[in-house]
Amino acid sequence: MNRRAMLGGFIAVGGYLFLPMAGCGAPKPLATPMPVPPASAPPATPAEEMMMPTEFSLPPLPYAPDALEPHLDAQTLKLHHDMHHKGYVDGANAALKALEEARNSGDYKLVDHWSKKLAFHASGHLLHSLFWTNMAPSGKGGAPSKELAAAISSFFGDLDKMKAQMSAAARTVEGSGWGILGYNPFDQSLAILQAENHEKKAIWSVVPLLVVDVWEHAYYLKYQNRRADFVTAWWNVVSWDDVSKRFAKARQFKGLV
Ligand code: MN
Repeated sequence: MNRRAMLGGFIAVGGYLFLPMAGCGAPKPLATPMPVPPASAPPATPAEEMMMPTEFSLPPLPYAPDALEPHLDAQTLKLHHDMHHKGYVDGANAALKALEEARNSGDYKLVDHWSKKLAFHASGHLLHSLFWTNMAPSGKGGAPSKELAAAISSFFGDLDKMKAQMSAAARTVEGSGWGILGYNPFDQSLAILQAENHEKKAIWSVVPLLVVDVWEHAYYLKYQNRRADFVTAWWNVVSWDDVSKRFAKARQFKGLV
């Protein structure tokens, strides 16, 4: 099995199914990819392309660091993206490399360590990639699509109830973690999850649509210990346009079992 587990265009990392979208830091081919087939060979099928070795890369922020002021401050956003997110990208690539070396040498004595590191860092990379694109300057994020609004009403009562549950989930994560709104193709449902660290408490099939980072590094410079205030302010910069697009794409995923 390749380093990526691909399921019909989805990347499964740390318990989540990730929808690769432009600007989201999806894995890119390594510098030394698999041998290129002769020019006379038919074009690679999607299945063959999936088998390319990959590495992760840091996507650029989709806006200036001060674009989400005053709700998310520029200094925090820049540090968060340039230092913290990059750390997860580097950590995931280091784990991939270590596991490749283990396969080559047949020495698996550290496989437990590196598997855990891969889950942590790759999930951190995934969630941060979503987090940036899930946000837009205040007033520029649009509104939930008709389909998303209907699904939210069906599963949570209405948008305000969904926001209240997700806020409460994010507010009460023990230690470092995330609040997540996701679509579950297993039973065509919406779910609100907590994640501890980046990868714990997942439902394996859930595709994250909207995520909020509640690690202290996401808010402490501006909000100190007031995580609840940060979460309340964060709703002002949610890009419902992005969430709606992710929902439409996630709903195309069928046949998980
Ligand atoms: Mn973070």
